[in-house]
Amino acid sequence: MPQRSHLNTEKKIVEAMIYLYCKKNHGTTERLCTECQELLNYAHKRLGNCKFGEDKPTCAKCTVHCYKPDMRERIKKVMRYSGPRMLYTHPLLAIRHLWDGRNRQAAD
Ligand SMILES: [Zn+2]
Repeated sequence: MPQRSHLNTEKKIVEAMIYLYCKKNHGTTERLCTECQELLNYAHKRLGNCKFGEDKPTCAKCTVHCYKPDMRERIKKVMRYSGPRMLYTHPLLAIRHLWDGRNRQAAD
């Protein structure tokens, strides 16, 4: 089993969410706008530094708010927008995400 697999999944989900949000709200096509790219870099960095490591809850449910307030507002907006829509565009990622959030033990 590859190490940090859970974190990698979470990174992919965050990335997919930001891409979807940027495309629909900022009219970008292949690349993110500067602002969203910055948010993505930040989110990935936070995940990389997460003190829970592999045992972390999904960021949406995490009790430690490691984002700085303005970034937190931005990622919340993205998650609120893209979360429900991910069910259609990335069904597997979205389902995995919900699953991980609800039932850590059975996930692996
Ligand atoms: Zn954008």
